[in-house]
Amino acid sequence: MPLSTPELCLFCRRLHAWDDATSPSRGADPDLIWRFPHSVVVLGSWQYFHGYCVLVSRTHAEELSQLERTTREAFLAEMCLLAEALEQEFRPRKLNYELLGNQVPHLHWHLFPRYAEDPGHLKPVWVAIDQAEGNAGEQARLTTGPCPREETARRIARRLQELTGR
Ligand SMILES: [Zn+2]
Repeated sequence: MPLSTPELCLFCRRLHAWDDATSPSRGADPDLIWRFPHSVVVLGSWQYFHGYCVLVSRTHAEELSQLERTTREAFLAEMCLLAEALEQEFRPRKLNYELLGNQVPHLHWHLFPRYAEDPGHLKPVWVAIDQAEGNAGEQARLTTGPCPREETARRIARRLQELTGR
């Protein structure tokens, strides 16, 4: 029994909106950074982890095993390209890759750059994010990056443009 169907899925609905946009890279949604053939890059909320992105599969599936092999390989290659763009642009101490889907069961990667100056850098990000639930000050701290969101989005898009030659 699937956990979700494309009709009820939050990401499937957002994918329609993202593809309706006219620009080749960024559309009406200011968080939309890049459209790959098999996935879409959006800027995540928690910009204390500067450069945090979510990579959403264009195919509705709950598990990697449900993707047809060539689609899965392309999706993973796109995830690696995004990782490379984040590494080049932000030079984090470490990148964290997470494919969870407990809340929205549609394949999406969380790519979190981690920085040495973050006192919690040895722990998963969710420890801090869970603590920020219901704490407006902590939420504001963790959603604020060192530069405006539009600038972060532009920087990532520029790197992806260089890497993909588009
Ligand atoms: Zn979906």
